[in-house]
Amino acid sequence: MEPFPSDRIQLPRNMIENSMFEEEPDVVDLAKDPCLHPLEPDELEYEPRSSRLLVRGLGEQEMDNDEEDYESSAKLLGMSFMNRSSGLRNNMSVYRQNANGSCSMPSTRAMVVCTVVLVIAVSLIMAIYLLPKCTFTKEGCHKKNHTMELIYPLATNGKMFPWAKIRLPPDVVPLHYDLVLQPNLTTLKFAGSVKIVVNIIQVTWKIVLHSSGLNITKATITSAEGHQAKPVEFLEYPLHDQIAVMAPEALLVGHNYTVNIEYSSNLSDTYYGFYKISFKDENSKQRWFAATQFEPLAARSAFPCFDEPAFKATFLIKMKRDEKLLTLSNMPKKATTPVTNGIVQDEFFVSLKMSTYLVAFVVADLKNISRETNGSLVSVYAVPQHLNQVGYALNTAVKLLEFYQKYFLINYPLEKLDLVAIPDFQSGAMENWGLITFRETTLLFDSNTSSARDKKLITAVIAHELAHQWFGNLVTMEWWNDLWLNEGFATFMEYFAMEEIFPELHSDEDFLNLIFKAMMKDSLNSSHPVSSAVQSSEQIEEMFDAFSYIKGASLLLMLKHYLTKDVFQAGIEVYLHNHNYGSARSDDLWDSMNEITNGTLDVKKLMKTWILQKGFPLVTVVRKGKIISVQQEKFFYSMEPENWTSDASYLWHIPLTYITSSCNFTHCTNAYLLDQKSAVIELPEEVEWIKFNVNMNGYYIVHYAEDWKMLIDLLKKNHTALSPKDRASLINSIFSLASLGKESLEKAFELIDYLNKESSTAPITQALFQLSLIYSLLEKKGEQELAARVMHRIDHLLGDKIDQQHWTDDGTLSERELRSTLLAFACTHDMRNCRTTATEIFEKWMKSNGTMSLPSDVMKAIFTAGAKSSDGWEFLLKMYSSSSVPEAEKSKMVEALASTEDVRKLIWLMQNSLEGEVIKAQELSHIIATVSQSLPGYLLAWDFVKENWEKLTQKFHLGSYTIQNIISWSTSQFATKAHLLEVKSFFESKSEESSQLRCVKESIDTIQLNIQWMERNLAKLQNLL
Ligand SMILES: [Zn+2]
Repeated sequence: MEPFPSDRIQLPRNMIENSMFEEEPDVVDLAKDPCLHPLEPDELEYEPRSSRLLVRGLGEQEMDNDEEDYESSAKLLGMSFMNRSSGLRNNMSVYRQNANGSCSMPSTRAMVVCTVVLVIAVSLIMAIYLLPKCTFTKEGCHKKNHTMELIYPLATNGKMFPWAKIRLPPDVVPLHYDLVLQPNLTTLKFAGSVKIVVNIIQVTWKIVLHSSGLNITKATITSAEGHQAKPVEFLEYPLHDQIAVMAPEALLVGHNYTVNIEYSSNLSDTYYGFYKISFKDENSKQRWFAATQFEPLAARSAFPCFDEPAFKATFLIKMKRDEKLLTLSNMPKKATTPVTNGIVQDEFFVSLKMSTYLVAFVVADLKNISRETNGSLVSVYAVPQHLNQVGYALNTAVKLLEFYQKYFLINYPLEKLDLVAIPDFQSGAMENWGLITFRETTLLFDSNTSSARDKKLITAVIAHELAHQWFGNLVTMEWWNDLWLNEGFATFMEYFAMEEIFPELHSDEDFLNLIFKAMMKDSLNSSHPVSSAVQSSEQIEEMFDAFSYIKGASLLLMLKHYLTKDVFQAGIEVYLHNHNYGSARSDDLWDSMNEITNGTLDVKKLMKTWILQKGFPLVTVVRKGKIISVQQEKFFYSMEPENWTSDASYLWHIPLTYITSSCNFTHCTNAYLLDQKSAVIELPEEVEWIKFNVNMNGYYIVHYAEDWKMLIDLLKKNHTALSPKDRASLINSIFSLASLGKESLEKAFELIDYLNKESSTAPITQALFQLSLIYSLLEKKGEQELAARVMHRIDHLLGDKIDQQHWTDDGTLSERELRSTLLAFACTHDMRNCRTTATEIFEKWMKSNGTMSLPSDVMKAIFTAGAKSSDGWEFLLKMYSSSSVPEAEKSKMVEALASTEDVRKLIWLMQNSLEGEVIKAQELSHIIATVSQSLPGYLLAWDFVKENWEKLTQKFHLGSYTIQNIISWSTSQFATKAHLLEVKSFFESKSEESSQLRCVKESIDTIQLNIQWMERNLAKLQNLL
């Protein structure tokens, strides 16, 4: 999945995401052990809700207090493990060992009470005598005694539900699904029936599977011998989205049975499951569209299924539809047959073995263009009025598909690949096998209104989703703790493929900016290891974050450079071949790489230090003649810089790279593996300067303890001695170190003094990012005069460059992108005469009633300037509502609308986007991001989030990437103790699931660090600027 692509390319606009500092860790972290962890995340065995479930089943007294006691986050599970050994908070483990077998099949409420009493009594005794003997690993208590299953919650009908865990039991596995669906775009409901062929692994009387919000009317079980289907009892347990189909007789090991379930439901109002979309056709008439978004946990709300990624099966899908509409699914269509008047049924070919979250279908009026490549038909679909914008996507998809097949040495295995633009879509895109769904702005390219940046975005998202056809679809992570195997890989391949096929897009510079952003989050206490234990739906949703995507990808980038590209590619081929149509864990990837390195290098040992530890290393370099001393420690922000000490237990195996004044091209990059706390490197000769982490290909920051002056001078004298990415990384490092208190802010400002000679996008973008962070904090703090001095400094450094920009789409893609960045920044901050020029162009455009063609790269700057006046704003809104305006243009309009200083308009905009009628709800997080950066808007945005929290979490799901963004943006500008308290108490007043979100903790960290940064630097800035 591509979570929120509009945030990815346009860093300069929305750059102030998090602040720069960290406090000391205070949470026991599973991954703290330097490199080899006794407990890997997925080796933990826990059934944390068992005791609670039992009591919940007894009555309607909800166990809120118990729930508060329950440790839900991955980190706390680690802590819980520590605590258990001290004999505290261990009810559940005690239950697990000691529940009385005689109560194993209770069927009445009285029996439940009996169980409770018995269990509590036995627990108390066993807690004292037996607990220390328990080791909580795979081979621990759980395997010795399976009595955990004896403690059950109650189903909706009051009967005992025969399963208590969130994860499904392993005793039954699905082999094949026959799914028939009949969506009705008039009543906005759907009816369905599913036949699931299952195989029995362990004798059982029950088949437990997922179902959410479905009105099940009938269930039957048939044995493979073909006996008549027998209606059977089914039980529902909505808290875990589970149902249990109760067999009339024991289901025998090795036998296959067919479960048949009939049900109905409403098309969803959210962006999850099988959901409805309202849009306007070319005649401005309202039309309906239905599509699916199942990842991670919503397949269960479209059909009952075994909704965990490792339960792969084949799918035969049939869709009944209005004969005027079109249906698409993962596989090509096999046949269409009439059903009743005006209704026909499409049958699709049986799918390959795949996970439920990849199943997809679409019902709509769509048009397409297609092209065949290597035996697969690639098609791009859109609503009819957008068919003229699908050409670029088709060309790009075909090129990328061909590239991946060559790179992986595995053909794309389906006969077709559809890419569909969905008119309202929460994320950027979704990689459903054979049927990739996109937001319209990430697939449709309009030659008149799509900018250089839009082109980059569309290319990147297609590259990402196509990579998933192998990483994710062919080989899937076994469980969501290793989501990075899907998302980190797809992100890595996205940038790698773009560099190979579309080098003119310079996508590597975008990736670099994303890595800087991920590192900022990773230096906060709220960070987590890339591979982290997860169980609840919120925890799973929260895995879709910068660590799974960007950190995962940048670790692969680092590994590729260390192993060399041929070894890395060979390792990937082995991994894909060894696990195709199956599931994998992180270790499987390292084992595949080790097959290639053949003992010369232990990839697993090296990479575990990066995957299982949160944060990243700070490498301090001290040079004395030819001798270079290097030392590593964890990069983190201390609240008391004078007492700065790093956590000594962290140790990474860092593949260091460096270039020097006598050897400064990529062909003579030097490498050294730092797998100790410190080491000494001897150079063949003395050098003028040395730069580590070449092109920022490694996930670490370097501090040149006594050498910053040398690098500052180098940039001043001859900045092109270093690559643009190296220059950007120096800017990022020195500002990060200044925030840490390891280097002075003065030196950081001195380093960027060379910028008036700079012409590359990456260093300019990074410098603007750092200065904007400071500007925004000062502005919100009421330090307007000082903020103006920051802006003056930017003007001094980049003013000439801004003046040189033309209001056209001329030049290379890189030049065009730099122009977009500089002019959008200048117009937003009223620098030079940007606003005057932009306003003049806007007025001409308005006079032409929007028919005059505008240069696409500077369109946003023009609209932003135009939206400052009330007339301009109203006109933009009118144009936005017109169905004839391309989506690429609309997205620029929406950003401009959100940049107004009129608070009533801002409130109206947020409210209407939440309602989704005039402004699409998919735009809301973007609107909140823009509003929360401005002085008139930042308090409004937070108020809006508070007032609409329930609606927001209902629409976008707690923990989703959208909610993460909304929380992060709407609190990012706070730098006072009052705001800190307010944000804390707001989330504390909500459910425990809300207050325990990682993104809430991240926001609180950020505010604390903003406060600290201000206290530390305000006086210094007075002197400095
Ligand atoms: Zn993805």
